[in-house]
Amino acid sequence: MIGSNRGAAGGGGAAALNPATGEALAPSFSEASAAEVDQALGLASEAAILYGKLSGRSKALFLRAIATEIEALGDSLVERATAETALPAARIQGERGRTCGQLRMFADLVEDGSWVDARIDHADPERQPVPKPDTRSMLRPVGPVAVFCASNFPLAFSVAGGDTASALAAGNPVVVKAHSAHPGTAELVGNAIRAAVEKCGLPEGVFSLLFGGGRTVGATLVKDARVKAVGFTGSRAGGRALMDLAAAREEPIPVYAEMSSINPVFVLPGAMRERGAEIATGLHGSVTLGVGQFCTNPGLVMVGGELDASFSETFENLMRETAAATMLTSGICDAYREGVGRLAAIDGVEALVSPADAAGSAAGAAVFKTDAKTFLAGQGIDDEVFGPATLLVTDDGREQLLEIARTMEGQLTATLHGNEEDLREYADLIQVLETRVGRLVVNSFPTGVEVNHSIVHGGPYPATSDGRSTSVGTQAIYRFARPVCYQGFPQGALPDELTDANPLGIKQLVDGVSK
Ligand code: NAP
Repeated sequence: MIGSNRGAAGGGGAAALNPATGEALAPSFSEASAAEVDQALGLASEAAILYGKLSGRSKALFLRAIATEIEALGDSLVERATAETALPAARIQGERGRTCGQLRMFADLVEDGSWVDARIDHADPERQPVPKPDTRSMLRPVGPVAVFCASNFPLAFSVAGGDTASALAAGNPVVVKAHSAHPGTAELVGNAIRAAVEKCGLPEGVFSLLFGGGRTVGATLVKDARVKAVGFTGSRAGGRALMDLAAAREEPIPVYAEMSSINPVFVLPGAMRERGAEIATGLHGSVTLGVGQFCTNPGLVMVGGELDASFSETFENLMRETAAATMLTSGICDAYREGVGRLAAIDGVEALVSPADAAGSAAGAAVFKTDAKTFLAGQGIDDEVFGPATLLVTDDGREQLLEIARTMEGQLTATLHGNEEDLREYADLIQVLETRVGRLVVNSFPTGVEVNHSIVHGGPYPATSDGRSTSVGTQAIYRFARPVCYQGFPQGALPDELTDANPLGIKQLVDGVSK
């Protein structure tokens, strides 16, 4: 979909595969040619000026129109997405609600308008030794954004997902690279956005959707000088490759990649004694949710001291009894089996529950156990295993636990289970974790990410490429905007947001005072 046109049916196309049955799902989606990528970016570049000037109110109408069009797709969207991903209908329906909800949340944000962080410093011509100029600043769009769809969120982190919604809300045209695991879902949602573009009378280049695997289309997008930022959710190898491509450009650009995380859970001694079985039940739900295919999946459980018998028994039994289920793609299932095999082969790692034999792309749950000494020795033991597996680590005391927290890679989340005394005693652990993760969770589980104004779905590398950002919630808009300062401008030449009259009634910081 190149603006309002369909690309030519070309070669190199592929159909989606139903991961549950292995059958091809018509039609075939042809790969965008180099000329088509060029055309989409030309249109996006043209649209950037006009769309970037649109009022918050008009952008809000557009974002709400997209949500309405997606809802109007009805069951056809749910049926196609379940066939392409093997995710149950209820999950797809929930994800559709989240997708439309976040579009409307961004609509409210830009309609309110205060997100632009308007700052005004009035002139003082009498200032000595030099007169003070009038300077005013606000956030402006960065320009066309390339968005990569995620395999594990066919709606909420794909064509009209969080990256697209935040980039459009900030005033940027978007060119989306569909994921080859769910092209039919992408097409349906793409049609919905296109209908909204037309209904709102916007320039066609505001949105394009490109298909094509083999890394060619994605790499071409990231290398093109007209693209000014990138949004990505997927593997560490993929995100890192895109970061490197972007950094090697003549004009390097930011890549906001959300990549790998093992989301450690720390079960502190008091909580383990008091609620071992209850924590085990919650942990099982979190590890196996969506066949473990969440970036917030807890892949590491640190146990302060020895494993409590009721915790171990409950957790192992629940994991053993969990039926194997179909993963998103055969490639993701192969990677899971390989990851489980790799963990099992590490010296000092014991398999407590091995995945049940399963056919096709189905995967069973797995539990491993090791001690802190083995964990600290490395050997790739902390690499993400994307799926329903987790590693329990016992330690010889708080020093080892702190050492693991201090040396672990950047994570999206860290979770602590502790009573009040535990939390007091392990206050230094919380301080260390604060430097390593984007979100700290107490007495709950990391899966199930709220979409709101305060959520942080980010974290230091390699959880994401830029730990100063979040890809979920309204703060995600700041990834795709940059501050611009207007010096010496007469009132009539300023954007409405920066005038003294403040006709939009937004929050302004005037001479250092919030108004
Ligand atoms: P992926 O391999 O990273 O691919 C995601 C997207 O990035 C695809 O559109 C792919 O394009 C593109 N891409 C990847 N490498 C690229 C490169 N070198 N140059 C240009 N484009 C590139 O992720 P996936 O297919 O969703 O899943 C593979 C593995 O990623 C999983 O097994 C899992 O381990 C991990 N994963 C992690 C998360 C998480 O949230 N942590 C989420 C999903 C997946 P093409 O279609 O052209 O290949």
